[in-house]
Amino acid sequence: MKSLIAGNWKMNGLSAASAEIKALITKFAGSAPDDRDVLICPPATLLMAFASSFSDEGFEFGGQDCHANASGAHTGDISAEMLADAGAAYVIVGHSERRADHAETDAQVKAKADAALNAGLSPIVCVGETREEREAGKALDVVAAQLDGSLPQTPSAFVIAYEPVWAIGTGLTPTIDDIAEMHAHIRNKTRADIRVLYGGSVKPANAQEILAVKDVNGALVGGASLKADDFYGIISAAPGDV
Ligand code: PEP
Repeated sequence: MKSLIAGNWKMNGLSAASAEIKALITKFAGSAPDDRDVLICPPATLLMAFASSFSDEGFEFGGQDCHANASGAHTGDISAEMLADAGAAYVIVGHSERRADHAETDAQVKAKADAALNAGLSPIVCVGETREEREAGKALDVVAAQLDGSLPQTPSAFVIAYEPVWAIGTGLTPTIDDIAEMHAHIRNKTRADIRVLYGGSVKPANAQEILAVKDVNGALVGGASLKADDFYGIISAAPGDV
C-alpha cells in the first residue's frame, strides 16, 4: 500500500490559500511524489477550484464531511455525490470536531461512510478517545466500540484515522508505544489492506518517528497542513510503501 498523507484544513482558507498549494507543488518540483498519496481536504468553497487546478500535478482533494443522503431538503449540507462532482476522491467522516460540535453518533458516521462509498469516494473514518477515557484506561475499548459502530457496511476500500481527541491541535501526542498499541488493536479489528492513519499534532519534527510505527499507514494532519513548508516536511518523512 502507498502511505496517505492527508491535510484537513478545517474552516481555514480563502481563495488566496491556493498559493500554499502552488508552493507545495514547487517544493516537489512540479508534481506530487508518486510513491505516496497526498490529499488536501480544503473548505468546500475551495474544493472544485483546487481539484480542477491541481489534480494534474498528482494531488488529491477531499471533503471534510458529507450528508448521508444523496440529495434533499438539508439546508447547508453537502452530499457525497456533490463532493465527487466537485473533484473529491475522499471525504473525512466522524472527525471528533463533528462528533462534538454536531453531536454525530457512530450510526450517523457509518451512514455517511456508506454514502461516500456509494458516491465513489473513499471515506476516512475518524475514531479516537478523549483524555478522560485514556486516563481511565478505556482507550482501546472506546476505539473498538467506535469502529464497531462507524465503519461502513460496504466491504470496499476505506481509510481509518486514529485521532486521540486530546492530541488534536494541542501539541500533545501519545507515546510511540501507545500509538503502536492502538494501531495494532485497530489492525486486528479490520483488514490488512485498510490504511490506518495517525492524527493529532503531527508536525515535521515528529512525523518520521510516528510514520515509522508498524501499522501506521500515513497521517491526518490539521494545523501543519496549512503551510506548504510544514506539510512538505511531513509528506517527505512518510515512507512510500507501508
Ligand atoms: C485534525 O484535526 O484532524 C488534526 C489532526 O489536527 P492537528 O494536526 O492540528 O492536531
